[in-house]
Amino acid sequence: MKLPIAGVETVFWGLLLILAVIALGIWLFRQEARTLAAQQRQRHADAIIQSADSILIGLQNIETGQRGYLITGNISYLEPYHRGSVSIDQRIRQLGRLLPATPANATLIATMRTLAARKIAEIDQTIRVRTKHGFSAAANIVRTNVGKQVMDMLRAELSSIRNHYHRVALYERVLVERRLRMAQTVAGGFSVALLVTLLGMYWRIVRVVRRSKKMTDDLVHNAHNDPLTDLPNRGMFMNWLTYGLAQAQRMDGKAAVLFLDLDGFKPVNDRLGHSAGDHVLCEVAQRFKQSARTGDMIARIGGDEFAVFIPAVSNESDPAELAHRLIEAMRQPIVADGSVVYVGVSIGAAMYPRNGKSPEALLEAADQAMYRAKREGGRKLAFHNSALTDQIAREARLRGGLQHALQAKEFEFHYQPLLDAQTLKPVAVEALLRWRHPELGLLVPGEFLPVAERSGFMRKLGPVLLENAGEQMALWRRQGIHLRLAFNISPFQCSDQNLISAVETMLLSSGMEPRNLYLEITESGLLQADAQPILRNIRQLGVGLTLDDFVGGSGGLACLRQLLINQVKFDRRFITGLTHSPADMDLLSGLTDLTHRLGIQVAAGGVETQDQDVVVRRLGCDLVQGNLYAGACSPEDVTHLLHQWKAA
Ligand code: C2E
Ligand code: CA
Repeated sequence: MKLPIAGVETVFWGLLLILAVIALGIWLFRQEARTLAAQQRQRHADAIIQSADSILIGLQNIETGQRGYLITGNISYLEPYHRGSVSIDQRIRQLGRLLPATPANATLIATMRTLAARKIAEIDQTIRVRTKHGFSAAANIVRTNVGKQVMDMLRAELSSIRNHYHRVALYERVLVERRLRMAQTVAGGFSVALLVTLLGMYWRIVRVVRRSKKMTDDLVHNAHNDPLTDLPNRGMFMNWLTYGLAQAQRMDGKAAVLFLDLDGFKPVNDRLGHSAGDHVLCEVAQRFKQSARTGDMIARIGGDEFAVFIPAVSNESDPAELAHRLIEAMRQPIVADGSVVYVGVSIGAAMYPRNGKSPEALLEAADQAMYRAKREGGRKLAFHNSALTDQIAREARLRGGLQHALQAKEFEFHYQPLLDAQTLKPVAVEALLRWRHPELGLLVPGEFLPVAERSGFMRKLGPVLLENAGEQMALWRRQGIHLRLAFNISPFQCSDQNLISAVETMLLSSGMEPRNLYLEITESGLLQADAQPILRNIRQLGVGLTLDDFVGGSGGLACLRQLLINQVKFDRRFITGLTHSPADMDLLSGLTDLTHRLGIQVAAGGVETQDQDVVVRRLGCDLVQGNLYAGACSPEDVTHLLHQWKAA
């Protein structure tokens, strides 16, 4: 912001300086002109003085010569004065030209001319008389000499003219000297001022340039660096990558890219606030920087996403070693806002040139590998491979087909009954989504649901599906089949306000009683930010909430304490291990008791064997579900099955 102001100031001072130089130039020029005029006047006065002097000397000489002639009587003495009279005449004319044209001067010049002419005529005559008649005759002529008073008067006039011009010349000389001295002083002073001003301007310009350079540097730095962690940003990282891959290509070498995504960062941010989140990010960046080796280029490329470019690697063990160091660096907890938080990192690695040749392709490949690391539980490293590429391509294809599938009604539900554990009579059905893909066949949720969730399509799809399931329930009711509906909700939907209205709409349109609807929510759904008020609202509608995929972990137990849910469903993983592990059996027994004491129903999902059936029913589960009783099947098959069971 200061650059333009400084620039304006500099321009202002520059203009002022130019104006001062011009003013001084004009002043000096005028002084010079006046000095020249004074010098001219002085030279003119000098010329008048010289003329007057020479006339005075001439007149003097003529007189002296006359006297000398009179005394010596030698005629040859007159010769030089006779000749000199010509120059006297010239001098008089010159003086006439030099003196101002006033009547007094004209009279003076005329008198001098007359006197000089008379004197010369007298000399001529004297010479002639002397030559012819001798000395005594000539003496008479001499007596008629122009009177001494007239000559003295002339001399006095000339002397006064001379003195006057002498003063004029002197005055002009003094004037010239004074002007020259003044001009010198002023020019000298100005030179010093100019020097000082130029130095000042130079200093200002240097400062402006330095400041603008700093601003430019800051801008460049900010354009290339993340302001929070001061790590290079995505743009800068891509520049590195472009340059580094070009190098690798030239050298026929290998390089690697790591894509890092933090595990468990979002809950920290949601729970402790953004300033704590920022602190965690800075600490993470610091740890990554410390763990990276010289030459590894690390950048923050998104919210909780980082990337590392390893320019020269010999094989996969290089990036693997660094990745494990980065994972290790995150094992220690971070203290943020007085709370101890554990944040991990999932890392995907991609190798150049095997997994991608362009910067974008390589980063995308590392990103895909990172997703695999996440899907496999997180806090680990996964390398990109060709199977992953196929999977990614398949996911992209699925993602592209979601919208069309919805319009073409390619989504359908299979239903899996839930039985009363005591009577083994069906009391509910769980709606399990399927995509009847025209080319890929019948797809189960694991194949397309994560794609729909990641792309945000679930926001659109969720309410439609709920309504579809409601229609099926209404149809069954009309057929005399009265069952509860267990409906799965994606974690992110739990923090979506629209869920409340979607449930209300479904209840209205299907005419279903709220107590016959159970939304199945996983632990991560319950932990979503803002999930609590939304789910509480839904509970207030009378709708049940089931904690799905429960394995007895501490997170799930914490959810039970919120007294929000009214059913838990043990996951198949837990049920499968049950018959081999007495400890798990005790745990199930204890958890069932505890859950019951909290007024929460218990369901056992994924029961596959008779042994499991015996155990879960003996340990007091209220509901059972699993392929042992019935798998997920089409609504028609379920209808058929239900009729069979009824008849049995
Ligand atoms: P889930 O809620 O845990 O559903 C149970 C899954 O286990 C279902 O798989 C079901 O077919 C399967 N299953 C049930 N009993 C047995 C058994 O005895 N043995 C074995 N091996 N499997 C059994 P499915 O249909 O592939 O669904 C997978 C997951 O997709 C569901 O897990 C649920 O989380 C999700 N899902 C299904 N439908 C929807 C839906 O409409 N919306 C949302 N958001 N998620 C859904
Ligand atoms: Ca479920």
